[in-house]
Amino acid sequence: MPEYKAPLRDIKFVMSELLNSEQHYASLGAEDATPDMIDAIIQEGAKFCEQVLSPLNQVGDREGCTWSEEGVKTPTGFREAYKQYVEGGWPSMTAAPEHGGQGLPESVGIVMSEMVGTANWSWGMYPGLSHGAMNTVELHGTDEQKETYLTKMISGEWTGTMCLTEAHCGSDLGILRSRAEPNADGSYSITGTKIFISAGEHDMADNIIHVVLARLPGAPEGTKGISLFIVPKFLPDAEGNAAEQNAVSCGSIEHKMGIHGNATCVMNFDGAKGWLIGPENKGLNCMFTFMNVARLGTAIQGLGSAELSFQGSLAYAKDRLAMRSLSGAKKPEAPADPIIVHPDVRRMLLTQKAVAEGARALIYYTAQQGDIVQRGKTEEERREADELMGFLTPIAKAFLTEIGHEASNLGMQVFGGHGFISEWGMEQVVRDARIGMIYEGTTGIQALDLLGRKVLMTQGESLKRFTRQVHVFCKENAENEQMKQFIEPLQAINREWGELTVKLGMSAMQNREEVGSASVDYLMYSGYAVFAYLWAKMAQVALNTMAEGTTEETFYNAKVQTARFYFTRILPRARGHAESMLAGADTLMDMPEEAFAF
Ligand SMILES: Cc1cc2nc3c(=O)[nH]c(=O)nc-3n(C[C@H](O)[C@H](O)[C@H](O)COP(=O)(O)OP(=O)(O)OC[C@H]3O[C@@H](n4cnc5c(N)ncnc54)[C@H](O)[C@@H]3O)c2cc1C
Repeated sequence: MPEYKAPLRDIKFVMSELLNSEQHYASLGAEDATPDMIDAIIQEGAKFCEQVLSPLNQVGDREGCTWSEEGVKTPTGFREAYKQYVEGGWPSMTAAPEHGGQGLPESVGIVMSEMVGTANWSWGMYPGLSHGAMNTVELHGTDEQKETYLTKMISGEWTGTMCLTEAHCGSDLGILRSRAEPNADGSYSITGTKIFISAGEHDMADNIIHVVLARLPGAPEGTKGISLFIVPKFLPDAEGNAAEQNAVSCGSIEHKMGIHGNATCVMNFDGAKGWLIGPENKGLNCMFTFMNVARLGTAIQGLGSAELSFQGSLAYAKDRLAMRSLSGAKKPEAPADPIIVHPDVRRMLLTQKAVAEGARALIYYTAQQGDIVQRGKTEEERREADELMGFLTPIAKAFLTEIGHEASNLGMQVFGGHGFISEWGMEQVVRDARIGMIYEGTTGIQALDLLGRKVLMTQGESLKRFTRQVHVFCKENAENEQMKQFIEPLQAINREWGELTVKLGMSAMQNREEVGSASVDYLMYSGYAVFAYLWAKMAQVALNTMAEGTTEETFYNAKVQTARFYFTRILPRARGHAESMLAGADTLMDMPEEAFAF
C-alpha cells in the first residue's frame, strides 16, 4: 500500500500563496485562524493521518465490515482510531462555539478532510457523514435539537448519517416512499427502508443520529412533499444520554467493489420515533445544505485518489528498472534504467500530479467561497459567493471524481503487472475511487444540475461571474512574456465557453433533449476550463516568486512545468468535448429502444 505522506508544502502553497488565506481569514474576522495556528493544526492532523489512519487503509479493505444481529463491526483498529480522533478534538474543529465547537472556518476543516480522506477514505466517511449531519441540524434544527443532538455529534460521542436513497430511487428522490405519521407528543413515527446508507451502523460511537427523508400524510407528490427528520438509534433520556433503543435497525450490509471499511447499510425504520427538522415539505431544501457539504466532501475523493496513487507510483517509478532511455542510458551502472526516464511513464506521473494539485486548488478555492457564504460581511458578498459556490460544486464533484479515478488507474498502470496485485495496494485505490462518480449525485446528475439549473436557468449569470474573473486575470497578465503560453489558450477557452453556452441555450429552446445530450461533455469542458485558470494562476505565483528570488527553485519550477504539461497535453481534451456537446441530441435519441440490440 502506498504509505501516505501529507503534501504539506503543496497545501501551504495553495492556501497561503495561491489563495492568500491569511488575508481571507482576516477579512472574515476569523481571529483564531492565524497562520501559526493553522500551521500547527495541519501539522498535527498530518501526523494523525500518516501514523494512525494510513496503516489501517489496507486492513480496512481486507477485513471489511461484518454484520451480525448485535450490529456492525468495523475493521481492526477503526474504533481505536476514532477514539483518538475524538480525543484530539477533530470533530469539533469547524463547529459553532455555542455548541462546543472550535469555530474555525470550513476551509481549514477541508484541509483536514483531504488528509484524512487520502490516508483512509473508508474510515474518513464515518466522521465525514457526521459533519454533514451536524451542518444540517445547526442550520435547520430547533434549539432543543441542537442541545440534544448537535453537541454530542460535535464532541464526537455520537455520529450522523444521511438517509435519502430507497431501493427504487436515488437520483429521483421525488418518488421516495418512506412515511412519517405524526404522534400526539409532537414526534413522528417513521416507517420505510433506506438502502446504501454509509456508516448507518457501526461500533465506533455510542449513538447514531439518522437524518431521514420521508413523507407526511397527504403531502404533495414529488419533491415538494418531502420532509426531513432526526431519528436517533437510541432515544436520549432526560439527561441527554443514549438510552432506549429506537425502532431502527440495520438489516444487512452490502458486499461491494471498494471502500470495504465503510459499512453500506440497509436501514429499516419500523415506526421509529423521529422529529421534524425545518418546515414541513421543505425537507429537500434543508437537505441541500447537507448535500453541498457532502458534494465538496466527495470531490475530495477525486483529489485523494489522485494524490495517493501519485505518491505510490512516483516512488515505484524511481525504483523500478526496465529498458534503457531512448536518448541513451541514464543509469549505466545498473542493468536497466528506472522507468521514470521513459516519456510515457512521465505522462502518467505528470497527469496524476496535474490532477492532484489542480484538484487541491479547486477544492480549497470553492471552500473559501463557502467561508464567505457563512461569514461574509455584506449580504451582497455572501450572495455572490453562494452563487459561485453553487456553480463550482457540481464541477468539483463530478469532474474531480472522474479525473481522480483516471489518475488512480494511471497510478496502477505505472506499476505494470504489480499494479494488479493486491499486495501493492494500487488496485485498492482504483476500486475505492470508483464510487466517487456515483454517490452524492452521479456525474450525469451533476452535469444536468450544472448546465440546466446553474447555467441556463440563470441565463448564464453564474458562468459569467466566473469567466469575468478569468478575463480580468488574463488582462492583468497580457503583457507578461513568460505568461503568454498560458494566457493565450486561457483567453481562448474562456471566450469559447461562453459561446458554446449560448449555442446550447439556443438549441435547448428548440429541443429540451439537447440539455441532457450535451451536459456531461459541458461539465467536463467546464472542468478543464476551470483547471486552466487555476493552473495559469499557480504558474503566475511561481514565476513571480522565482523573479523575487527563492531558495525553493525546484518546487516553483515544477509548478510552471506542470502548468505547461497541463496546457499542452491535457487542456486539448476540451476540444473533443466541445465538438461532442454540439453534435446534437438526435445522434442519441433517434435510435428506437428496440433497435439497441437484436
Ligand atoms: C457505496 C455507496 C454508498 C452510498 N451512500 C449513501 C448514503 O450514505 N446515503 C444515501 O442516501 N445514499 C447513499 N448512496 C446512494 C447513492 O447516492 C445513489 O446510488 C446514487 O445517487 C444513484 O442513485 P441510484 O442508485 O438510484 O441510481 P439511479 O437514480 O437509478 O440512476 C441510474 C443511472 O441513470 C442515470 N440517470 C438517472 N436519472 C437521470 C436523468 N434524469 N438524466 C440522465 N441520467 C439519469 C444516472 O446518472 C445513473 O447512471 C450510496 C451508494 C453507494 C453505492
